[in-house]
Amino acid sequence: MSLHESRRVQHEVRFRQLQVLRVERLTPHMQRIVLGGPQLEGFHSGAPDDHMKLFFPNDAGELVMPKRGPQGLEFPPGVEPSPMRDYTPRHYDAARGELTVDFVLHGDGPASLWAAAAKPGDMLGAGGPRGSFVVAGDFDHYVLVADETGLPAIGRWLEEMPASARATVLAEIPEASDRQLLFTEATCEVRWLERDGQDGAASTLLEDALRGLAVDGDAFYWIAAESRRARNLRIFLAERGVPKEWVRATGYWKADGTDDEDE
Ligand SMILES: Cc1cc2nc3c(=O)[nH]c(=O)nc-3n(C[C@H](O)[C@H](O)[C@H](O)COP(=O)(O)OP(=O)(O)OC[C@H]3O[C@@H](n4cnc5c(N)ncnc54)[C@H](O)[C@@H]3O)c2cc1C
Repeated sequence: MSLHESRRVQHEVRFRQLQVLRVERLTPHMQRIVLGGPQLEGFHSGAPDDHMKLFFPNDAGELVMPKRGPQGLEFPPGVEPSPMRDYTPRHYDAARGELTVDFVLHGDGPASLWAAAAKPGDMLGAGGPRGSFVVAGDFDHYVLVADETGLPAIGRWLEEMPASARATVLAEIPEASDRQLLFTEATCEVRWLERDGQDGAASTLLEDALRGLAVDGDAFYWIAAESRRARNLRIFLAERGVPKEWVRATGYWKADGTDDEDE
């Protein structure tokens, strides 16, 4: 019998200062940055949609990192804290001491602007991952639905899937040249949905594709997109009768500017 038991795992949180080792422009809107340095040792990420808090230099060019206090994250007083944003550990290679992060270049904000200009030797801070959501491996089908901010998690997930798994990917990207090579042993169909100038918060390409998708058997749905869209996609699946434990929908960015998870 299939139980579909997904589980949450907590990790001890560590804050690290990491150094840029290499930068590679994967596609026009995706910058791959490989990080390393002695503080990377002991890094752990247990699931493809894990996220870390990344800390970027403040206006004075300094990394001002928090500590965990009784009230949550506490920054040192009297200095401008580093802006922090959520990012996916795309790949971690413990033997080489390398952590890969893929940054969407959307043209605004401390993270995207930092990534666009990053070069070997630059520093950034990282905290976490604090926990992992490990999705049950016994679903008949995995439906991965995301805009470009979810592509790092999808790429990692496909790489980690066993050959016995079946997946469908609905991936919304700015334009055709943002398609990426995705590797997997699973049976997988990838549908690229290109916005071609449409706004990422207003597009309905993912919604239309999901509405038209026929899925056999028990399917787990993973969704990452602009917050309002992620919420609406979750509501759509609920109305279709998909059990809520079979859906993980997260707002990966907000059109009004605050980054926030909506899970
Ligand atoms: C769990 C999780 C994992 C994530 N993993 C990744 C990842 O691996 N790679 C990645 O690139 N992003 C990822 N994101 C999304 C990323 O955290 C946000 O896009 C974040 O807002 C980027 O910060 P910023 O400093 O560049 O822009 P902000 O300062 O947050 O925003 C500046 C302006 O840009 C807009 N904006 C922000 N993000 C986008 C976007 N993607 N497209 C268009 N406009 C945008 C805002 O509405 C605002 O107007 C993840 C988010 C979550 C919650």
